[in-house]
Amino acid sequence: MSGGTSGYPMPTRQASDREASHLVQSMDVNQFIEAFRADLAAAGNPAELDEVRRTHTGKKSPVKAAFKDLRSVDAADRPKVAAALNQAQKTIEAELDAATANIEAKALATRLDAEWMDLSMPGLATGRGARHPLTEVENRCMDVLRRLGFTLIDGPEIDAAYYNFDALNIPEHHPARDMQDTFWVTGGLLLRSHTTTVQARVLEEKPALPIRIATAGRVYRNEAVDATHLAMFHQLEGLWIDQGLTFAHLKGVLAFIVRELYGEGRLRFKPKFYPYTEPSIGVDLACALCDAAGCEACHGAGWVTILGAGMVHPKVFLEFGYDPDAVSGIAFGLGTTRMAAQWAGVSKVKALYDQELAVLHDLHRPSGGAR
Ligand SMILES: [Zn+2]
Repeated sequence: MSGGTSGYPMPTRQASDREASHLVQSMDVNQFIEAFRADLAAAGNPAELDEVRRTHTGKKSPVKAAFKDLRSVDAADRPKVAAALNQAQKTIEAELDAATANIEAKALATRLDAEWMDLSMPGLATGRGARHPLTEVENRCMDVLRRLGFTLIDGPEIDAAYYNFDALNIPEHHPARDMQDTFWVTGGLLLRSHTTTVQARVLEEKPALPIRIATAGRVYRNEAVDATHLAMFHQLEGLWIDQGLTFAHLKGVLAFIVRELYGEGRLRFKPKFYPYTEPSIGVDLACALCDAAGCEACHGAGWVTILGAGMVHPKVFLEFGYDPDAVSGIAFGLGTTRMAAQWAGVSKVKALYDQELAVLHDLHRPSGGAR
């Protein structure tokens, strides 16, 4: 059949002008519509619909052919046949438009269906982030300190030697300057060797009593790296200045902090020396890795020093114009790097700073408490 297209049946009434003429004469115009509807019903997609449109409304469509053949119709019947053909043409076009809209809607629905995603379904699992053990330990420490009324403040990591040493009763040629081998920067500046610099800066401003501040961050010492020492590590310090504070307050605060962080674990106080506190003490925790039996993490001692503390030295008060007979203060510094290493269960503190994702995955202990 001429004009035939594979895929769907062609109208049976398109065969020839002669046949169309016969149809027009018999006024079987409805046959055009029926043939069109059969093709339309078989068209399942926009391309097939286009083909139906070409076949039934194009120049060679049965209706157009019949129009051309009107001359062969009796003059008396001609208006009637022409009207019927016009009506058939309109019907076909209207049904085509409706079918087009319908098929486009279906195509859209199919596409939406194919692209639909159930957003309520759980996604593909990707690695979940976790706080770094250092951040975790700092946060836990601050949670405890805030309950005691401490406020976290910040300070510069590059500071003047005055705040790092001189103001803290560590004058030039003092052995402590050797004890804490320092990274010097040009212009008399240095990388702070302890967060106590921030305490000096606060005291210099002489805020109203009581002063209860905490500061946390990196400190730098030119030290040989081993299991418990690094050239850069983290500290968290607290300073409480008021009238009438005694050594009992110091011990009480330290015991409270350690108990809140570690529970009723084994701890011991020991005498220490710091130039800016007098008397000075240290707090050791039973090593979490070896349960005080002695291991690499604790240099075989079974104990790890996690904080140093003391009563603020009178000379520090005098430096900033306080009367050491009128006010007293307690100061303490937590070695958050060692605490984090103990908490994460790593024997070498360097692992905390290696930025190895695999190591950090190992460090992450979702249900672990401070240890
Ligand atoms: Zn140990």
